[in-house]
Amino acid sequence: MLTIKDKKVLIVGLGKSGTACARFLKEGGAVVTATDCKSIDDLTEEAKGLKPLGIHIEAGRHRVETFLGSDLIVMSPGVSMNIQPVKLAREKGIKVLSEIELAYNFIKAPIIAITGTNGKTTTTSLIGEILRKSQREVFVGGNIGNPLIEYISLKKETDYVVAEISSFQLEGTVNFKPNIAVLLNISPDHLDRHSSYQDYIKAKERIFLNQNKGDVAILNADDPLILKIADSLKDVRKIYFSKKERIDKGIYLEGDSIVSEIHSQKCFFSTEAFKIKGVHNIENIMAAIAAAQICKCNNEQIKDAIDNFTGLEHRMEFVQEISRVHYYNDSKATNAGAVEKSLMSFDQPIILIAGGKDKGTGYDTLRGLVKEKVKRLILIGEAKEIIFKDLGSLTQTLKADTLQEAVELAWLDSSPGDIVLLSPACSSFDMFRDYEERGKVFKATVTELRLKADKIRKEVNEAT
Ligand code: ADP
Repeated sequence: MLTIKDKKVLIVGLGKSGTACARFLKEGGAVVTATDCKSIDDLTEEAKGLKPLGIHIEAGRHRVETFLGSDLIVMSPGVSMNIQPVKLAREKGIKVLSEIELAYNFIKAPIIAITGTNGKTTTTSLIGEILRKSQREVFVGGNIGNPLIEYISLKKETDYVVAEISSFQLEGTVNFKPNIAVLLNISPDHLDRHSSYQDYIKAKERIFLNQNKGDVAILNADDPLILKIADSLKDVRKIYFSKKERIDKGIYLEGDSIVSEIHSQKCFFSTEAFKIKGVHNIENIMAAIAAAQICKCNNEQIKDAIDNFTGLEHRMEFVQEISRVHYYNDSKATNAGAVEKSLMSFDQPIILIAGGKDKGTGYDTLRGLVKEKVKRLILIGEAKEIIFKDLGSLTQTLKADTLQEAVELAWLDSSPGDIVLLSPACSSFDMFRDYEERGKVFKATVTELRLKADKIRKEVNEAT
């Protein structure tokens, strides 16, 4: 058990999880300092509110001496583990943990942890929903909603903790051992933070690091990288899911049904009643069913929860129909892997709005789908020239200065039956606060166009 009383603990990064950690550690009797490279004025009110609690704040820089003078360092997921002061502290033998590792030391409930390049939030939310519908008490958090450390502060016992875990959080784990670990997929992402793709894969693999007999790994059998990782897992029970082929004792797609052979009796989940669409969501749902069945949830309750799950904002979210053109907001698609699945999910011609802040992963993997499905590509943001170089020759491609301009171009170019899809393959920070703001601007622009289109239609009708 990690003891924190009277320990000198440094929190690095004062976002949501860092702030929560600082409070938790202070309450536990630690001597807490928190550092952030933002100036004190730029910190959130919550972070500023730590000072009156007796937490020392070092803002605007990271002092190496502060790191080296600590007994324990807790990293926020937003800060790289590779920054120089952390390297020096590690060399000195100072323990460096991520927030989830800190929380793990105090969690008693079984943990279901979900990672992967894409689909984490959707799958984590869905597993939470199924467990709730099955009358289980759950805490859902981690990389979404509330940091895990807040669960400890709640001092509330639950049957399960369902945790979305990012690669950054996995980098700082030591003993973290989920009872059920889900790995959804791996494709290049965050190469602006991880030093190589290999490093990123290694971080994802750490979700299984401490699992042993009695634990369960839920694995995507359609992903060759995951199959390779699965080979190295020894004692755990492995459950595979696949969209492509039947899996013995696993879970797979057969016609319009998801079939589970996890328990001795085969069971079927019709996909026709699902409200969330898209090929990727079939994978997320298979993973969620596997986790729920391992937790002994009743199949009827699983079905009920899935059929009523409407999905999350900014993930293939249907926005409006204007003149028989459907507009979708997929602002959370911040890498090519997510865009790939979104493009695969439509049979209609697509006008794709992409671009934003480049993450160094390249866009080549989208070439086939862009050629086949994208009738017009409209590029925005810092990455527009790079994307233009990779994809611009494959379809008619335009560049826009703003998202609003891109949406208007899409509107002008669209014909009945088309799809207009914002699925950027980039992060949003060059033009927006975050992907949520980007998605909201998209939706507001589409709504304005809808009103404009309605007005034009009315005027035309009145004139004829
Ligand atoms: P994450 O939390 O991993 O970012 P989300 O559930 O928030 O995942 O979805 C992020 C983006 O990835 C959205 O554009 C969504 O449509 C897409 N997506 C969701 N699930 C998958 C999946 N299994 N494979 C590929 N893309 C996915």
